[in-house]
Parts: sequence; structure tokens; C-alpha cells
Amino acid sequence: MTKNDSRWVYSGAEQSCSVCHGDGLEVYRDGSRLGARTCTCVGECALCGGTGFVASGEDRSDPVRRCHCQHLKVRIRRLSESAIPARHDKSTRVSFKPTNHAQTAVLARVSSWLKAYNAGETNRGLILYGDVGRGKTHLMVALLRDLIVQRGVSVRFVEFSHLLADLKSGFQHRQSTSALLKPLSEVQVLGIDELGKGRNTSFEGTVLDELVSRRYNADLPILGTTNYAPGPSTGVGVANAADVDSASPDEWDEAQVREEAATRQRDGSGRQVRRTVYARAFDGCG
Ligand SMILES: [Zn+2]
Ligand SMILES: [Zn+2]
Repeated sequence: MTKNDSRWVYSGAEQSCSVCHGDGLEVYRDGSRLGARTCTCVGECALCGGTGFVASGEDRSDPVRRCHCQHLKVRIRRLSESAIPARHDKSTRVSFKPTNHAQTAVLARVSSWLKAYNAGETNRGLILYGDVGRGKTHLMVALLRDLIVQRGVSVRFVEFSHLLADLKSGFQHRQSTSALLKPLSEVQVLGIDELGKGRNTSFEGTVLDELVSRRYNADLPILGTTNYAPGPSTGVGVANAADVDSASPDEWDEAQVREEAATRQRDGSGRQVRRTVYARAFDGCG
């Protein structure tokens, strides 16, 4: 088993705890978003007594180092700052129950992406595409949660249409695009839900392009969900569409499908996503 396979456990938590299962944190609904707090099975840290620091050696004069309990605090803070919607409080890889071969394959792809992720190195992005109501967002949220809890990574969830609305309102208050996009540009992993769901204005295209190029330049990956499959070349720099890291639950259970095809059918919007996200961000990060 490699380091990336092993599950993170917090030594101060009850390994048999039915709430945290040993990772020491409890996820809860905090208004419209997910919050996180120390699980009730965790008492005061026996190593540092709550100071956050322990001696690195036997001698009193040895330098101090951060205690293991601080890793739990970082994870709790990062989950609280992730902006994952509260409705996804139960969305984990464990709670995703594949009902057919395609779903099993996508779950495996998501798990292998997590295993391969290495903070500080170049990581390819991953797009989950497919029709509405098949669990793309569930899986992306599950991945973001595992990045935080298992790996201590800083993540941010954003729904594309909400991002556009926030930016427009920011402009009205004379805030610059640069300041508004900064937090999304710097977080280690950004998850964008519903890419391409919009009116396909040039403003939307510019925002997406700006965000993608900032993260590309900083060597930071994007996860995304979209209704658009990586289609054929649009003539705007798609060199190898087949090389895109993406996964689609092609044959999801028909009973789960709720057709909301309004934006999906808009060819123009699909072209925007294909050009900017698939072509630029994902081929570029290979
Ligand atoms: Zn617990
Ligand atoms: Zn401690």
C-alpha cells in the first residue's frame, strides 16, 4: 500500500466512532454550506495538552514542532472554507452506490485521480461529464472532501452560474476581477460545478478563460462537472481531445435521469466549454 492509499486517521479519535470513523471531524450543515467541527469522541490532546506544540526530542531544550492535533484543525478549517453546499453533506465516495458498469467505472476513475494527486506537483484536472441527475456533482464533492480529510488539501467548490452572479455584483461595487478571482486562483484544488451552464455571453467566456489561465499558470488543477462531452475539435486549439482526462457515466440508470436539457442543447455554450476547459486547461496540464 502506498502513502496515497492509506486512510488518514487521527490518533486522538475513537477509531470505532460511528460519527467520524476515526478521522476526528464531524461534518454538519452550517446554513447553506457544509461546516466541520471536532468530533465529540476527541478529547483534549494528550500529546500537547492543547498548546499545539510538542518537543521534538527528549531534552527540554530541543526545538518544538507542531503537534499532530494541528493537522486535524487544518482539515476542519479547510472543510469549513470549502463552500461545499449543505445539500451534499452525505455525498461521499462510500455513499455513491453504482447501479451499473459505467457508474462503477467512473467511481474507479475518481478514486484513481485521488490516489495520483500530489500536492506541489503538476496534477491534471478531471472533468465529469454526462446528463443531468446522474451523480456528477456527488462524485466531485466526494473527491473534494477526500482531498481535505485524507490529504489536508485546500479546496473550493463553486457553481459556475453563482460565480458569474458574484462577479457581476462585485463589478457593481467597483471590485476588480483580479481581486474577485484571487481566492479561486490560489486554492490548491478548485471544483467548478455546472461548467457551461449559462447564457453563453462573452462575459462568461472571459471569466472562464481568465480563471483557467490563472490556475494553469500557477500549476493548479481544476475539477469540473458539465453536461458537455469532450466533442470534436472546434478549430480553436484542440489538438488531442482523446487525451483529455474525463469520465462519463454513459449508461447511468435511466430512472435517475431528469431531463433539463435547456442549456445542454445549446451548441454555442457547449463549444465554449470544450474550447476553454477541455482544450486549454486539461490538454495543457498533461
Ligand atoms: Zn468521532
Ligand atoms: Zn496536540
